[in-house]
Amino acid sequence: MRLSRYFLPVLKETPADAQIVSHRLMLRAGMIKQMSAGIYAWLPLGFKMLRKIENIVHEEQIRAGHIPVLMPTLQSAELWRESGRYDGYGEEMLRMQDRHGRDMLFSPTAEEMFTDTFRSYVKSYKDLPLTIYQIQWKFRDEIRPRFGVMRGREFLMKDGYNFDLTKEDALHAYNRHLVSYLRTYERMGLQAIPMRAESGPIGGDNTHEFLVLAETGESGVFYDSEITDLKFGDRAVDYDDVEQCQGVLEEFTSRYARTDDTHDQAVFEAQVPDERRREARGIEVGQIFYFGTKYSEPMGATVTDAEGNKVPVHMGSHGIGVSRLLGALIEANHDENGIIWPEGVTPFHVGIVNLKQGDAAADGACEDLYKALEARGLEPLYDDRNERAGGKFATMDLIGLPWRITVGPRGLKNGVVELTSRRTGESEELTPELAVARVAEIYAGL
Ligand code: ATP
Ligand code: MG
Repeated sequence: MRLSRYFLPVLKETPADAQIVSHRLMLRAGMIKQMSAGIYAWLPLGFKMLRKIENIVHEEQIRAGHIPVLMPTLQSAELWRESGRYDGYGEEMLRMQDRHGRDMLFSPTAEEMFTDTFRSYVKSYKDLPLTIYQIQWKFRDEIRPRFGVMRGREFLMKDGYNFDLTKEDALHAYNRHLVSYLRTYERMGLQAIPMRAESGPIGGDNTHEFLVLAETGESGVFYDSEITDLKFGDRAVDYDDVEQCQGVLEEFTSRYARTDDTHDQAVFEAQVPDERRREARGIEVGQIFYFGTKYSEPMGATVTDAEGNKVPVHMGSHGIGVSRLLGALIEANHDENGIIWPEGVTPFHVGIVNLKQGDAAADGACEDLYKALEARGLEPLYDDRNERAGGKFATMDLIGLPWRITVGPRGLKNGVVELTSRRTGESEELTPELAVARVAEIYAGL
């Protein structure tokens, strides 16, 4: 992409009403525009990042054997009356009527719709296990939308639903989700802590939240200082292997405790020596639930088991806050000059800054770099505007591309360009060919 032809409405001023850094930076970097309280337009850079996050979530869900579908955002109230949640859900549900006076709602979550779909088609235990999921907009009329996309009213969520014959099978589905989530967040360069939690209006007694550590997080957490060494890495997990998934769960979940849960604290203190205990705050970027037959029973989602009996299926639901993750990523990756995207999720792989637009040698070298990077399957953002170098650097720093290649007449005389890391600020002079090769090497396998 050439910046002169892109739509990147960066702001010079710091928006006054944005309280946390990720919200400020998303506005300043021209990623989002608030349309009304808690409702945002996704501008090109923000939309691109949303898609990148979505792609990682899809890839990891599919790897775990889960099947993508898409449900409508508007639902009939009927299904919610069947499950018994329509009246109880409260003010967060946006309710409306169509022209015939039928009660409708904007989906805040979709247990009912998935359960209804399941019961319409699946009749036999032989068709289990089954996990279907979607990445779709949700609406919750939050009393206090704030922190930008972190607590919006309209937000993008991955929500998945497992259907299993037995509790044991459904608990495996739960563990499988936990493992796939660990891998998902780690691919985004995030350390997400899986912590036992309260279930709230979704119901059920098994639930874990995933927290990304950040000062602005809303949940308190005790953690083991050694967790930074605990990586999912590229271990080969067989998602059908019950013992392996259980093992990963145990390895990852014993190192933390909620600051408001004395039982968890006792377990944590028994496992983690005093000098390694730390207290912090976390942003909830996902949650998984096992809730048994809470929906399948009232809604009649049954299958015939091997003995010919009709039994309600065991279910769980599993959410990832896709749009909130953008905020969490920025909270975890920024400095005073702007965002610092991790290589695993960045809107463009590398920026090209032309120090002297209009200089034949500099323009030519930038064009060549651009083409060579694209030929390697990389997406560069070329700042080809007729602007001063300082302004170009400030924009690149603000939007946070992990790598920048700076091209100027002086370097070109010696046959070199400069490759700079956004994270460390370190620069290296290289021939253009080597710079391209270096960038390709960095992104190989990501
Ligand atoms: P919270 O406690 O933050 O209100 P929740 O527990 O009600 O969230 P879930 O039902 O668990 O939310 O939804 C799954 C995920 O969707 C959450 O882990 C979170 O990442 C995301 N999410 C929930 N509410 C919002 C919101 N208002 N804005 C953005 N993302 C949200
Ligand atoms: Mg939650």
